[in-house]
Amino acid sequence: MTKRHRRKPKKSAVERVLCSETGKREYEHYDDAVHVALKRSRRAGPLRIYECPSCGSWHLTKRRNWGRPPAT
Ligand SMILES: [Zn+2]
Repeated sequence: MTKRHRRKPKKSAVERVLCSETGKREYEHYDDAVHVALKRSRRAGPLRIYECPSCGSWHLTKRRNWGRPPAT
């Protein structure tokens, strides 16, 4: 009987960075954010992607009235 040792992937390969300002997941590349947004939007509904002025990464948000100031 031979057993093959399975190597566990290193956790450090993927860094999970959360924005200190918004607490949201940071996406370093726009394409990454798009990929996740498309996947999640099937269940969670339409998601928007925006560049965070605080951390400079991309975030996803559910906000509907994007770019439109609330009417008073
Ligand atoms: Zn941020």
